Amino acid sequence: MAKPLGLYVHFPFCRSKCAYCDFPSSPGQEALRAPYARAVCAEIRARGAELGRPAADTVFLGGGTPSLMEPGQISEVLRALREAFSLAPDAEITCEANPGTLTPAFLAALRENGANRLSLGAQSAKEGELRLLGRAHRWADVEASVRLARQAGFANLNLDLMSGLPGQGWAGLKETLERALGLRPDHLSCYSLILEEGTPLSREVQRGGLEMPGEEEEREMYWNAVRFLEAAGFAQYEISNFARPGFRCRHNLNCWNYEEYLGFGASAAGFSRGRRRRNPPGIADYLSGAAPEEEAVSRQDAAFERVMLGLRLKDGLDLAAFGRAQGAGIRAVFPEAVADNLARGLLEEKEGRLRLTARGFDVMDRALLDFLP
Ligand code: SF4
Repeated sequence: MAKPLGLYVHFPFCRSKCAYCDFPSSPGQEALRAPYARAVCAEIRARGAELGRPAADTVFLGGGTPSLMEPGQISEVLRALREAFSLAPDAEITCEANPGTLTPAFLAALRENGANRLSLGAQSAKEGELRLLGRAHRWADVEASVRLARQAGFANLNLDLMSGLPGQGWAGLKETLERALGLRPDHLSCYSLILEEGTPLSREVQRGGLEMPGEEEEREMYWNAVRFLEAAGFAQYEISNFARPGFRCRHNLNCWNYEEYLGFGASAAGFSRGRRRRNPPGIADYLSGAAPEEEAVSRQDAAFERVMLGLRLKDGLDLAAFGRAQGAGIRAVFPEAVADNLARGLLEEKEGRLRLTARGFDVMDRALLDFLP
């Protein structure tokens, strides 16, 4: 029997644009939210019918800022998902939210429709860093949102944080981690800042107004954070993700394990039955019914993607699953890349899994180059 699908719904609206962001999201556009919700529901229903109402066991409402939708609109989307797909009774249903945008009515709409996990874009506990990032909230908004979420009954709460910021240093990151832990989350994502070309933050760094940490400092901060969070009971299970026991994000684990998922909404991507499908990135194009782009994923590309995603996991790539899916073992598909990286101490094989060593994590991009088709 096929494994249940993951379902992703994209909400491309934001209050304002953050200084580092190149995600598909737009500030304002309030008037488009109602037609957008209707179009997403129509897409969900059409796809569910086309596929014969298949089983699904994770839902992720991401963005953008899904918490900018009206409670009625988010309810409509969750109801459409439930009608169009056979959702497992214990499905993990996550909604992303930004501090300062959550209301009791919105949270109640989520809970009434089965949402059981909330992911808050906290990013930093330091006001100067929040300003530098162009975030539209303050730390007090994070604290207030956590209180509201717990009152609404969310027992599974993630905070997104950022490391490797200009001027942050380990002392700054540690302060953010301490204050985040003080809010008793169940899961933490701690992403290193990546400068995306064309963003205001990247232009400021290029102009010389800000200095990014050097590679060595960034790596030191990363490993300090890993040790600090593990000592606080948050086990690392992916490069940037940490969870208390029983709180790993099932939706993201499915993606890293190269399981099938469907995407709905502008710019949303999906992967199923060996094909990748991506909706038009612009809200207007999506609303006008522009067709998604579709392509078959070659066996070779699938093999590389499986390795690239699987090695993000601390447990690494499941070699038996790789062999079953690809019809050949990893040593047959990538003989030199595997042998060279094992010999260099960047990979290790243990209990049927191939995984990066600590040194391998530091140079993951370079190690992956060897696997490129
Ligand atoms: S809230 Fe998120 S998606 Fe929206 S602009 Fe900021 S970083 Fe981008």
